[in-house]
Amino acid sequence: MKNIHSNIERAKKYLTNNDIVAIPTETVYGLAGNAYSNKAVKKIFSLKKRPLKNPLIVHYYRIKDLKQDCIVNETFNKLYRKFCPGPLTFVLNKKKNSKLSKYVNANKKTIAVRFPKNKITQNLLSKLNFPLAAPSANISTRLSPVKFDDVKEEFGNKIKLILDGGKTKIGLESTIVDLTNKISILRPGGITIEQLEKVLHRKLKLKNFLKNIKSPGQLGFHYSPGIPVRLNAKYPKKNEAFLQFLSKTKNKNNYFALTKNGNMREAAKNLFSILRLIKKKGYSSIAVSKIPNKGLGLAINDRLKKASYK
Ligand code: AMP
Ligand code: MG
Repeated sequence: MKNIHSNIERAKKYLTNNDIVAIPTETVYGLAGNAYSNKAVKKIFSLKKRPLKNPLIVHYYRIKDLKQDCIVNETFNKLYRKFCPGPLTFVLNKKKNSKLSKYVNANKKTIAVRFPKNKITQNLLSKLNFPLAAPSANISTRLSPVKFDDVKEEFGNKIKLILDGGKTKIGLESTIVDLTNKISILRPGGITIEQLEKVLHRKLKLKNFLKNIKSPGQLGFHYSPGIPVRLNAKYPKKNEAFLQFLSKTKNKNNYFALTKNGNMREAAKNLFSILRLIKKKGYSSIAVSKIPNKGLGLAINDRLKKASYK
């Protein structure tokens, strides 16, 4: 993390020039660009090979800046006070006079926003006079990056700078909560549904996106390690890696555990790096044993389900 201050200055220069920089966040690394610039936002979509109709999350440092671009409400205030900065993304109504690029939210009336917790990225954001559009720093459908080298693997020299913030603390994407209609969870993530329910004093529903997809495999397939993933397996087949939540079997080269002691936070943090490691070791596919579906387990299962989509 040497020279981080001069690198933050370089990042500022590139971003102000509508170039793209990879940034660390507490969830995963992001591919960041000026959210007010069509040019910068279009570059993000093209680098990621992401369909233009899949909107991006916009990252802010100050609530005052966010209020320039979207309309907040009482539920937002409650959740903001409790969880921000942190791994929670809000879908809000966009203000008509907002300066946000129309590409950033795929020309919708709503916009997804969040306040990242990583100190380097907060420092960078505090020096900019625009927010950052930043989807995960991976080619579309692939695994999200949780460290500098992962981003390098995805984009090589195609981007000018990757700010190194070490390994991400949470290792999974943010929870997305839609506050524009009846409140609903669009994606499970770093803040659990139980945490949200406790603050809001009500039960929340996780929207089942896969039900509404018109062409299966298009939006469903995501977080892929590049080899087939098979869920709810009891045993691995020949040449398969076996991914377990907690491993009781020692000395088996093809067995991988998400956690050593059953800690769900540790499991979430390890998920993407273990999947990346298994692929690198040359296994032809991954069998996954049942993962507890509580707390962060919901987000882990969501990612694995999408990675297993055919
Ligand atoms: P990522 O690419 O990992 O940053 O994921 C961003 C997620 O936020 C995607 O699943 C988007 O579809 C979702 N998203 C972004 N903007 C909106 C929006 N306005 N309404 C609903 N979902 C959104
Ligand atoms: Mg992503």
